Amino acid sequence: MTEDLRATDARAERLVRMGEPPRNVREALRKMVWILPWLVFLASPVSDLTGGHHSAGATAAGWAGLTVFVGAYMTLVFRNMGRPFPTPVVAVLLGVLAVLAVTLCLTLGSRWLGLFVYLSVSCGVTLPLRAAYWTIPLTTVVFLAIGLREDEDAAWGLVLVVLLVGYSMTGVRQLVRTTVELRKARATVAQLAANEERLRLARDLHDLLGHSLSLITLKSELAGRMLPDHPGKAAQQVADIEQVSRQALVDVREAVTGYRRPRLAAELAGTQVALTAAGMVADVPDEPDLAGVPEESEAALAWALREAVTNVVRHSGAGRCTVEVLKRQTLDGYMLELSVEDDGSGGTGKGPGNGLTGLTERLEKAGGTLEAGRTKRGFRLVARVPAGFPPAVGSGA
Ligand code: ADP
Ligand code: CA
Repeated sequence: MTEDLRATDARAERLVRMGEPPRNVREALRKMVWILPWLVFLASPVSDLTGGHHSAGATAAGWAGLTVFVGAYMTLVFRNMGRPFPTPVVAVLLGVLAVLAVTLCLTLGSRWLGLFVYLSVSCGVTLPLRAAYWTIPLTTVVFLAIGLREDEDAAWGLVLVVLLVGYSMTGVRQLVRTTVELRKARATVAQLAANEERLRLARDLHDLLGHSLSLITLKSELAGRMLPDHPGKAAQQVADIEQVSRQALVDVREAVTGYRRPRLAAELAGTQVALTAAGMVADVPDEPDLAGVPEESEAALAWALREAVTNVVRHSGAGRCTVEVLKRQTLDGYMLELSVEDDGSGGTGKGPGNGLTGLTERLEKAGGTLEAGRTKRGFRLVARVPAGFPPAVGSGA
């Protein structure tokens, strides 16, 4: 159920990464596809200009006006999705749109009334809510005043569009803001989880060391006091001290390696969070069956997963990423195989960098192998490590 929700959520984000600038050509095209259909209201000014209804001078001025209008509109709507422009720039661009819409309608006629739709949309998209709430009706009133003068039917036909499209854009704006906040909140959750882990380590170390260090202090004091009169007893205390400190060393080592060695299950959970936060549809298995798999193998595979996912997030620009963990009988023996496949750019094809080279070494140390490279649809990384004994042999032994 939550899986479904997460997938739908990520899919919705993948369609348009709302409120973020496009990261690659595909995302830019996808944004264009959302914006271009709205240019339909330009059909009637264009046909007015190509129809030869006006003098050559007026037609040329009309084309110039229309070009500036579309340029200003696209700049406002397209660029404002990422980094909002400073307010003066927005005001100037909106001013240009307003002046052009009014002038073109008054001089060239009612077929240019559609320009007010863009003006209203731009107010809704770029202005702060309060300002949008009065500029949209103002735009509508000006539209109606000019429209009723030029062509009553066309004016009444478009008036609701001008008003409602502007207001619905303010709604979309709110949605974008919520989505951006949601994405930030997810990153914070991941950060908090890491902090929690650090706190736990601090607590464990304190508990481990606090006990042994107090014991060592106590016994050192005792030994110091006993030394002049009872050197034999003092030697006994010193032997105890040695034993306690050795044990403490072992405990600390275990605690620290336990924390530093990544576990595959934890890494898989982290993968789901990371990919979803990056706006991808993540296909990640739950707990894999790791019975009989040597710890070294599991750790190597967890490192491989971590590096692969970092690369997917950093380099791929993918919309979907599929992770699989399988046990396989291969020529090299019984292996545990991790594959991470995305449908992104596939990379530059320049070959491995530090990350993949280090990973190959790490896997080889654990008796495994790494394959990574571009596929027809994106990038695929396959890491294999020894999986211990096959179940039949294992249970018989
Ligand atoms: P680094 O991440 O430091 O650049 P890596 O060895 O991890 O080095 O990766 C080498 C190169 O392989 C990357 O620079 C990138 O071009 C490409 N690459 C790796 N994984 C992917 C992926 N999932 N999608 C696209 N390109 C990738
Ligand atoms: Ca890397």
